[in-house]
Amino acid sequence: MYLLPVAINRPMRTHLDYQIDPVQMARIRRGMRVRVPLGRREVLGIALDGARPAQAQDRHRYKPVHAVLDDAPLLGEELMDSLQWSADYYHHPIGEVIAAALPGALRQGAPRREEAPQWLYLSEEGAAMTEAAMRRAPAQAACIARLREGPAPWAEVDRRAARALIDKGLCRPGPAPDIDAPRPDTGSAIALTPEQQAVCDALPRAGFSVSLLQGVTGSGKTEIYLAQAAADLRAGKQVLLLVPEIGLTPQLLARARERLGGRVISYHSGMTDAARLAAWRRIDRGEALLVVGTRSAVWLPFTALGRVWVDEEHDASFKQQDGFRYSARDVAVVRARAFDAPVGLGSATPALESLHNARQRRYRHFRLEARAQNAPGAQVHVVDARGQRLRGGLTAELARAIQSHVAEGGQVLLFINRRGYAPALLCRDCGWSATCRACDARMTWHKQHGSLLCHHCGARQAVPTQCPSCGASELRPAGHGTERIEEALQAMLPQARIARADSDVMQRAGAWQALRDQVLRGDVDILVGTQMLAKGHDFPGISLVGIVSVDQALFSADIRATERMGQLVTQVAGRAGRGSRAGTVLLQTHVPDHPLLRRLLDQGYDAFADALLEERATNALPPAYPLALLRAESADATAATAFLEAAAQLLRAQGAEAIGPLPAPMMRRAGRTRAQLWVQNPSRAALQQALAASCAAIERLPEARRVRWGVDVDPADTL
Ligand code: ADP
Ligand code: ZN
Ligand code: ZN
Repeated sequence: MYLLPVAINRPMRTHLDYQIDPVQMARIRRGMRVRVPLGRREVLGIALDGARPAQAQDRHRYKPVHAVLDDAPLLGEELMDSLQWSADYYHHPIGEVIAAALPGALRQGAPRREEAPQWLYLSEEGAAMTEAAMRRAPAQAACIARLREGPAPWAEVDRRAARALIDKGLCRPGPAPDIDAPRPDTGSAIALTPEQQAVCDALPRAGFSVSLLQGVTGSGKTEIYLAQAAADLRAGKQVLLLVPEIGLTPQLLARARERLGGRVISYHSGMTDAARLAAWRRIDRGEALLVVGTRSAVWLPFTALGRVWVDEEHDASFKQQDGFRYSARDVAVVRARAFDAPVGLGSATPALESLHNARQRRYRHFRLEARAQNAPGAQVHVVDARGQRLRGGLTAELARAIQSHVAEGGQVLLFINRRGYAPALLCRDCGWSATCRACDARMTWHKQHGSLLCHHCGARQAVPTQCPSCGASELRPAGHGTERIEEALQAMLPQARIARADSDVMQRAGAWQALRDQVLRGDVDILVGTQMLAKGHDFPGISLVGIVSVDQALFSADIRATERMGQLVTQVAGRAGRGSRAGTVLLQTHVPDHPLLRRLLDQGYDAFADALLEERATNALPPAYPLALLRAESADATAATAFLEAAAQLLRAQGAEAIGPLPAPMMRRAGRTRAQLWVQNPSRAALQQALAASCAAIERLPEARRVRWGVDVDPADTL
């Protein structure tokens, strides 16, 4: 007997060993699925390397493997290596890491390949068969004769004969050929501008490297991705294009399909299990496809990855924010390196990490300056809100500008980073405000739903008709969300056609597409929305963009809030003036002289990013100074802190700086008390080493049993 290490989808930092007999041992390889007992249940696990002969006493200590599900590794060498790298780098249990990489159906034991392959192809050996040689097997001869005409759907041939031929290697199953889809080289092409062409020519064709492609929105980055993808697909390669959110960019998929025909597939969490499995299998079979996908697409079982693009690479959604906290952008770089393939990171507003890497010459840096369609860029003007009377959250200046743009037939986009009606409901008499019972947070009033909603835990309450504290009958909203601004604008401009875009109205499938069409048709005068509007949309009719406030970000406890504000303002400004006329951007603020805001508005995103990089370095923060958080939360008030205190000692003993425990900026969320430990070391290698050396011991701490905890390497926020 042998002992086989198996990774199981449970929050355990170690694998479990199972007994396996010599016959199974002979065919087991890393990356195959096995069924094993766990407690009273049977679960699916993945075989790892490192099987060893069992000792006599092991026979009673270890349970047996019940079944081996695969004949060949479901997860190949490269993918298993990348998963192990991720488990090590993010200090997350390997079983959960692997589970993140598998479509649900495969986690439940679905076969790797379709049970009945859809199409049959003649192999070279099959083509060489003579009729004489096949005389004894007429059904098989007929099947081969049919396949000489071209691949056939499974249903068209004799099933038994086909199986026999597959076993003899005379034909092979495969996916449906792209018959009516245009080949990549005949798909409609667009002539690149000289600037785009120059970048295309300069981008590495092969070999691992990372290139940062910085260009304002509309400068034609997407056309470069697609032009490169066409060349890669023609060479038989697979291409991955990671995007932050697919629901908001259906036009990107449509454009890709227009250029590359049937070679484009998507992969994201909005797809059904069956559709995800089908996409996974096509990549697994090695089809040369362009995958346009969100975060989880980075784990597809590529066999011939030729290039990776990450669009809007600065976007926070590439970092998973709970559980296995990986960055899809960074994992994409790791996988591309394994395939010796080039990576391109595209953004108008690169993340500080990426700019830092470019300044250190680890990444190449390309720029696209001109807008592809020569549309004029937008200018940003500050509207000073100090001492002004606001109506509906708007200064008179901003309101007048909206009015005049609408009167002249322009479209206005008004950006407010808060959904709902008002972020707080107050009693003017006693100062009471509606707070969440489970979080340290105010409830947001959603007037349309007639309820109070906590944006942090989802708790809902009825709106009280009088103050629960003093009984006063008048409760007043404080602050402005999208609903309230929409209402105020409607009162100011009764004729205007106003639409709202936030996650409340965009929940229905197709809602975004419908709204987008409405805006493009010119049926909307004013579009009020949240940050979801900042992402890659193309509304040529927008002549004015109003940003209602950025002040919150400038004073946030999150170390990245300012960076995100700068990206948002730059991206939102990119929405204006995409058509023929120059756009105006008005940014309303109570701190018009804030040095970082001035820097952004007067000198642009790059100078702003430089200032931030300097500030981060001075304060020993990322990217120059790596950071990991140990996050913990517990039902009782002190367990998280007690746990982090014990963990801090272990980490310090391994040479890491451990700052804290600090209460999280929102200390209580969803009924749990949260705290964090900042773990640092100027050397990333030393930081990693300290975490690696401590994690197992941290897991064994008695204090760990009373908390939920996890490591967050390169955190996307410190909230
Ligand atoms: P980005 O990805 O940088 O935001 P896009 O690639 O989406 O820019 O280009 C913006 C717009 O310009 C799109 O409508 C696109 O079709 C158009 N465009 C881009 N490159 C060209 C080109 N070479 N010729 C004509 N139109 C182009
Ligand atoms: Zn009161
Ligand atoms: Zn709450």
